[in-house]
Amino acid sequence: MIDVLVIGGGNAALCAALMALEAGASVLMLEAAPREWRGGNSMHTRNLRCMHDEPQDVLVDAYPEEEFWQDLLKVTGGATNEALARLVIRASSTCRPWMRKHGVRFQPSLSGALHTARTNAFFMGGGKALVNAYHRSAEALGARVRYDAPVDRLELRDGRFVAAFVGDERIEARACVLAAGGFESNREWLRDAWGRNDAGEWPADNFLIRGTRFNRGTLLRFMVDAGADSIGDPTQAHMVAIDARAPLYDGGICTRIDCVSLGVVVNRDARRFYDEGEDFWPKRYAIWGRLVAQQPGQIAYSIIDAKAVGRFMPPVFPGTKANSLPELARALQLDEARFMATLTAYNDACRPGAFDHTKLDDCVTEGLAPPKTHWARPIETPPFYGYALRPGVTFTYLGLKVDDTAAVRFGGEASPNLFVAGEMMAGNVLGKGYTAGVGMSIGTAFGRIAGTRAAQAALKEREHAAA
Ligand SMILES: Cc1cc2nc3c(=O)[nH]c(=O)nc-3n(C[C@H](O)[C@H](O)[C@H](O)COP(=O)(O)OP(=O)(O)OC[C@H]3O[C@@H](n4cnc5c(N)ncnc54)[C@H](O)[C@@H]3O)c2cc1C
Repeated sequence: MIDVLVIGGGNAALCAALMALEAGASVLMLEAAPREWRGGNSMHTRNLRCMHDEPQDVLVDAYPEEEFWQDLLKVTGGATNEALARLVIRASSTCRPWMRKHGVRFQPSLSGALHTARTNAFFMGGGKALVNAYHRSAEALGARVRYDAPVDRLELRDGRFVAAFVGDERIEARACVLAAGGFESNREWLRDAWGRNDAGEWPADNFLIRGTRFNRGTLLRFMVDAGADSIGDPTQAHMVAIDARAPLYDGGICTRIDCVSLGVVVNRDARRFYDEGEDFWPKRYAIWGRLVAQQPGQIAYSIIDAKAVGRFMPPVFPGTKANSLPELARALQLDEARFMATLTAYNDACRPGAFDHTKLDDCVTEGLAPPKTHWARPIETPPFYGYALRPGVTFTYLGLKVDDTAAVRFGGEASPNLFVAGEMMAGNVLGKGYTAGVGMSIGTAFGRIAGTRAAQAALKEREHAAA
């Protein structure tokens, strides 16, 4: 019998598999995707957020535990478990040598990459290279991997894992790690969770999925129905405002529109609805998908002028360009009079300051609701650009409740041989909000714990059976 069955094929699954292998367990991974699409959302990633007390290889200055914790506390509005969050933060300071050992290479953050040189370690070759490196290492250590193997249910006995089913095939193991992502790719579940708004719309029908199509939440639902303790609100997710022209799945990072803080954003009625300059973009980009989801028609438009060009990572597709603001309104099919009223009110409210996009500067609006509290400069220099935005779901936060052992719990009782990692439990740390790179920090920390614990449970049972 296999010692550790790992369900999933992304970062959390691979970290779990590698730790279990290092501990001497035999490992089988079941990945829903075909080989060419392996790696889930992890293949789309670029970096992980790392605590450090002094400069470390690719990271400049320091990013101490307390600052990381305060950042997390701020974005989640307190909807986080401090003990588990601190566990993740501390683990993020020591995981990179282990990642390197398994073939991951790091590089400094690119210039213009959203002020992340201090806080985030970038993977050379991105998440795809990370997934490939981990697979190479896992296979060298003897892991077996099966693709096109979506698990649809488990056999559980009194809180113990017994077997997993891929269709009619029953696969037994001594212990199991669930790392099968959230339910972001399950559009019916998203529709259900978001329901209908006051205007009679189904907002989720207009969501795009930034990553894999394989995270359908099948096992998450199975586990919740089987009585596993869960945590989180099904409407909470990492949601980015992305290019409305992005494909339904797997558009990845190149569909991001990163100029929001340099201009204004209006909705379909040509009205502003949120402070575009509230904080640095890496601390705010993940709330904009949700904000757009709350607008009529679930669409919004990021408006900039020539002054912003060159100050943000340009999107893949060019924006709608116009030589005047009324022309831009017409090109975006927005009510021209209302658009001009919004832009004129904004431009008139901008107070002169020393513009500096690398800090929270003093360029603010006065007497405007909602205000723009940093980087507020009149939008008056042609040419003007507009980008239509849609909510892009990255990953959902509803998950299974854990403690620091990563064990799945039933009525507060920890399972002896069933563990969970990654998006399937990220909601313990992320009740809402997001700060760039913390998804991989959570998956790496808990993937490693889950793999270690699963190997311990399996080896103990193996010894027991042999005795
Ligand atoms: C475009 C994009 C960019 C991102 N950038 C970053 C970043 O730079 N830094 C960061 O920290 N986070 C980033 N994230 C978030 C990050 O991807 C996730 O936090 C992290 O990858 C989650 O890892 P995971 O292993 O839990 O899930 P995934 O990597 O999604 O893996 C889930 C795996 O489970 C498999 N699976 C699903 N259901 C089943 C089933 N029933 N049976 C078997 N297998 C199943 C899937 O095929 C997949 O292999 C990004 C996400 C996206 C979409």
